[in-house]
Amino acid sequence: MSVDWITRADRLSALPPYVFARLDELKARAREQGIDLIDLGMGNPDGFAPQEAIDAAIAAFETAQFHGYPPFEGTASFRKAIATWYKRRYAVELNPDSEALPLLGSKEGLAHLALAYVNPGDTVLVPSPAYPAHFRGPLIAGAKIHEIILKPEQDWVIDLSTIPEEVAKKAKILYFNYPSNPTTATAPRSFFEEVVEWAHKYQVMLVHDLCYAELSFDGYKPTSLLEIPGGNEIGVEFHTLSKTYNMAGWRVGFVVGNADIIQGLRTLKTNLDYGIFSAIQKAAEAALGLPDSYIQGVQERYRERRDALIEALGEIGWNIKPSKATMYLWVPCPPSMNSTDFALYVLRTTGVVVTPGSAFGAGGEGYVRMSLIAPVDRLRYAISLWKKAGIRFDMSAPDNH
Ligand SMILES: *Cc1c(COP(=O)(O)O)cnc(C)c1O
Repeated sequence: MSVDWITRADRLSALPPYVFARLDELKARAREQGIDLIDLGMGNPDGFAPQEAIDAAIAAFETAQFHGYPPFEGTASFRKAIATWYKRRYAVELNPDSEALPLLGSKEGLAHLALAYVNPGDTVLVPSPAYPAHFRGPLIAGAKIHEIILKPEQDWVIDLSTIPEEVAKKAKILYFNYPSNPTTATAPRSFFEEVVEWAHKYQVMLVHDLCYAELSFDGYKPTSLLEIPGGNEIGVEFHTLSKTYNMAGWRVGFVVGNADIIQGLRTLKTNLDYGIFSAIQKAAEAALGLPDSYIQGVQERYRERRDALIEALGEIGWNIKPSKATMYLWVPCPPSMNSTDFALYVLRTTGVVVTPGSAFGAGGEGYVRMSLIAPVDRLRYAISLWKKAGIRFDMSAPDNH
């Protein structure tokens, strides 16, 4: 900075350092050295959005009315498509005017919701590990985060009984996410019933991130918070077009659920943005209207990748239980190494990028997340490089790192 009297707001220094930054630096250096990186670090799907979505966007580009400011609250037809999708998928009736709000990607809404509801010093409950927006959004709003440490022995499902009574009483919001990024865990319907009852008892608002609503395998169907009696009275649920429909770059998602909670977010956003380009809302609408066969194709693609990566890792000492959902594997580090050291070692010796679990909070230590964002052959190739480099689950820690 050129002068010393321009200083950043405290809310920025409240954010923990970004583990991805060091990884990015090393990735850049590896690329400069001509290393062929296999980047399984990000949750960024490979490939095209559905042709129907692309066609709908192109048609909208050719229509003058879509070039102006979109309505603040999202187009009526996209909101109606959201309500129709919800009805079809979960048999839940939503009022498209008050109970659905399109977002510039769900990350935006997850973070802004905290700004709309959290006063500095308020307690927000967030599992650890968690998707970064679930704690970084509240931190920006000045929240005191109470981490609920998740445990492999409990299949990474929140144990509500570990939340101290006095913390539960003063908590304002609980963020949670099943199927989970990064752990790939799913929670049984009984957990959703339990958490709704718990939230009513302690008067805690529920924020459920269901961005892997459709990326599930082997017949498993994720649960919506809004299917649970009482869920819509105290909670909202976030969805995205980024993952299922390969539309991460298009920036479109939505929140559904309690009308009053959504109204707070809508009021805040009216002051911050103008909503989503209408042509993209047209595309999103087309995507949500696709037949189940499209979703089945997506599920099949990720299931094949999951199985191939589990099999390849199995050959070098890893024993990983098939995940029921998401586009990741949650892989324990060799016991001799922490997650950052392991991720950096793997990058340096093989050019394969994985994300250290600690990037998702202290509860993610001891694991790395691998994204299923490359074709089966490339995933197998990545693990063949590990094998060649002597990387095994039972390897001992390398000397110099
Ligand atoms: C990918 C992801 C999102 C999606 O973010 P968008 O902003 O909609 O692209 C939200 N939550 C979780 C847990 C994710 O993994």
